[in-house]
Amino acid sequence: MYEVLALKYGERDTTACQFFYREASHEKITLDYFVWLILGGPYPVLFDTGFQEDDAEKRGIRNYVRPSVMVERAGVKVADIPVALISHLHYDHWAGHRLFPASEFWIQRDEVAFWTGRFGRYEAFSASQNVDALANLTPLNYANRIRIIEGEREVLPGLRVHRVGGHTAGLQIVSVETARGTVVLTSDAAHFYRNVERYQPTQIITSLPEMLAGFDTINALAGSKDLIVAGHDPQVSERFKAAEPGIIKIA
Ligand SMILES: [Zn+2]
Repeated sequence: MYEVLALKYGERDTTACQFFYREASHEKITLDYFVWLILGGPYPVLFDTGFQEDDAEKRGIRNYVRPSVMVERAGVKVADIPVALISHLHYDHWAGHRLFPASEFWIQRDEVAFWTGRFGRYEAFSASQNVDALANLTPLNYANRIRIIEGEREVLPGLRVHRVGGHTAGLQIVSVETARGTVVLTSDAAHFYRNVERYQPTQIITSLPEMLAGFDTINALAGSKDLIVAGHDPQVSERFKAAEPGIIKIA
């Protein structure tokens, strides 16, 4: 049985119409930024790596703390994390990978193919990128630190990744067995609870059908609706219990 922590490392304000698909409301919304830790197995497993100071400054992030600092505050040394699962290669999930020098990064084949392929150059996609972080994929791969996977995969007994796509070409989510039941870490397959509960997509997409099917997958995998952990929703801090500021115990 695993324990799961959500570690918050920043915040950014935007509006509902900027974010949700075909949304008319100009209501202000706040995105929280998280990485997640899965503990209780033979070694700690990290899900996503956040970003560094360059993106925090460039993108107007409030209350930024290095994700590696949050991991250490949670009692885990970065040198002790051999596996980091990467939901997708957007800056806020991948550009922090240099903070985790001992990790092998597990990424879906479709995700790597997309960002090294034809469509990355267009601003609709490139705006979500830290190109320097993306360019490090090749040296890391030749240093045996990238594991390219396809589809569903067991990471450890009771801990799996599932490719859902939708928001990006090879987006993957995590299911993990805990004492409370199966927790699903959606990352950006559901930025907010509103996405997965109302089936309202996000604007940033590579495939709308895959995004909708991803909501089905999340709901099917989770042991209960209460065990879904949305990727950027401030409600995570209300639905689950903060052990201390920024460290939220999911299960
Ligand atoms: Zn994100």
